[in-house]
Amino acid sequence: MLPFKVIYHPQYDLDLGSHVFPSQKFRLLHDALLAEGIADAGDFLQPEPAPDEDILRVHTPAYVNKLLTDSLTLSERMKLEIPLTELTRRAFWLAAGGSTLAGHKALEDGFAANLSGGFHHAYPGHGEGFCMIHDVGVAIRSLQAAGKIRTAMTVDTDVHHGNGTAAIFGDDPTVFTLSIHQENNYPDPKPPSDEDIGLNDGTRDHEYLDALEEGLLHAFKKITPDLIFYVGGADPYCEDQLGGLALTLDGLRQRDRMVFEHARRRGIPVASTLAGGYARRVADTVRIHLNTIIAARDVILQNPSAGDK
Ligand SMILES: [Zn+2]
Repeated sequence: MLPFKVIYHPQYDLDLGSHVFPSQKFRLLHDALLAEGIADAGDFLQPEPAPDEDILRVHTPAYVNKLLTDSLTLSERMKLEIPLTELTRRAFWLAAGGSTLAGHKALEDGFAANLSGGFHHAYPGHGEGFCMIHDVGVAIRSLQAAGKIRTAMTVDTDVHHGNGTAAIFGDDPTVFTLSIHQENNYPDPKPPSDEDIGLNDGTRDHEYLDALEEGLLHAFKKITPDLIFYVGGADPYCEDQLGGLALTLDGLRQRDRMVFEHARRRGIPVASTLAGGYARRVADTVRIHLNTIIAARDVILQNPSAGDK
């Protein structure tokens, strides 16, 4: 039914209960895609957990060992802001495997979506801000090691700056990092991305879309990557509890379309991930992520041959 694959695993759910991170959103999104007739069962692929070998392409052996042996210090646990359990560890390994698989499928089909991932606050040597493993970093490094891509771009529209992404790829000319975010928000500090667009509190649709367009044009002047990872956070939404921008559902839809159209026009495949989303109503967060899938479908169906590689 969809012109691309959607990557999902039931164990993406972090099972965090009443935590501000709505860990049930992965399942709700999967169920909504089916219930609303947007996808059918044949569109889904189930990932394997990323092999430790791939995790270690990004993360330090000391940090990975602490995760595997449950020996994070108290301050490391507090920085991570979610519990380290067998279940959460598996969910992050699966998210990294899922983003890697999405990268492979995007190279085949022009687009693919991981219904998890976008854990852009994870650094090589520590996790923070609900992010244990940097799935997009793992995916890019794995695809590069397999010789599938040489260059990549991350387009990160989560309301929070992609600090982990910037830290991982800061000195690497093969990966271009773009982050459009609320300047006056977590994280602090914000290590420099290749293109940082720090927006004022309360930025609305029109201003946001103008800034994003300018940033994308600027980025594509510098690089035409083999693959784009789209980190499509739902938290620039006006009703988000952890964000201070003021985008509407329609503005977020236009944001997604803009990224996909720019990529499609240039024949660059896109793998999308979720990232944050803390709307007062979880249904809104799910709707925003669902709209990302619909935007990708519509852009591909309206431009059928442009992205075939
Ligand atoms: Zn966020």
